[in-house]
Amino acid sequence: LAKEKGRNNYQFYTPLLNARTLDRLKLESDLRLALEHGGFEVHYQPQLISKTGSLWGAEALVRWRHPERGLISPVDFIPLAEETGLIIPLGDWVFAQAARQVTAWRKQGMPNLVVAVNISVVQFRKDDFIQRIEAILKEEGAVSSSIELELTESILMHDMESSIQTLNYLRGQGFRIAIDDFGTGYSSLNYLRRLPVNVLKIDQSFVREMLVEQASLAIVESIISLAHSLGKETIAEGVETKAELDVLTDRGCRLMQGYYFSKPLPAPQFEAWVKARENHSLAMQRY
Ligand code: C2E
Ligand code: MG
Ligand code: MG
Ligand code: MG
Repeated sequence: LAKEKGRNNYQFYTPLLNARTLDRLKLESDLRLALEHGGFEVHYQPQLISKTGSLWGAEALVRWRHPERGLISPVDFIPLAEETGLIIPLGDWVFAQAARQVTAWRKQGMPNLVVAVNISVVQFRKDDFIQRIEAILKEEGAVSSSIELELTESILMHDMESSIQTLNYLRGQGFRIAIDDFGTGYSSLNYLRRLPVNVLKIDQSFVREMLVEQASLAIVESIISLAHSLGKETIAEGVETKAELDVLTDRGCRLMQGYYFSKPLPAPQFEAWVKARENHSLAMQRY
């Protein structure tokens, strides 16, 4: 037995497992540890009503506070979490945090706030996806209309009929639905008509290019007009300048989110941001 074990140990060090694989294995075991020991944080980025500047909601964005590497961006660990299946417990955890937070904020003077949660394809395709989020919602005492589920086009287009069914059910239960990164995927307009979604999120690549490239502005305008004719709302993500804010408002984009207003913030800083903004607009009203 010892001999066998020794051989396996030896195999571990063969060049087949190169540095990248080892790095990946380390990252995967770190991910597991972080899940068990509270290594993740949810930050919240404000979403505003373009015309009035009032707060509409927030997007929940997960971060990993790694003991050696510092704060890690979700783009660097979500794919691995998806490959390993760890996105299921992680996604549940993020959803629970968001549900708890929006419920607390609604009680603390933000009665209509909506918190948007990103849903991975792996979560959405799981047979018990609906049961899981309903159980968490109940556990947290949250109402479905305070949660917006963000799904990408590719997730929804993959198995259209089943997506439509799932979304119809979720809408019926009161959840809000947004299509994230809209315009970057392959959407059939005919299916879009049948999808019970509330909001199209204009991808930030178009917002970034819109003032320097006519084609991007044309795409932004088309998305807004398409949304309006289908009875859906639009939110622009990645708004970084006043000029972008003005063009988007002028074109009829109702909601916005981006560094121009605020970066994603830990919950206490989000609350401070809201207070500072309220004080500012009160001061403005006195003039
Ligand atoms: P996303 O859902 O499209 O989120 C928008 C990303 O744009 C966020 O990056 C946000 O911090 C960033 N952003 C916001 N405003 C601006 C801006 O004005 N300029 C620029 N350059 N960027 C801005 P983040 O937080 O790094 O998240 C990246 C992606 O990771 C998200 O894209 C989403 O796809 C994924 N993600 C984040 N949190 C979760 C989660 O809890 N679950 C899942 N499944 N995916 C998540
Ligand atoms: Mg998103
Ligand atoms: Mg997006
Ligand atoms: Mg994205």
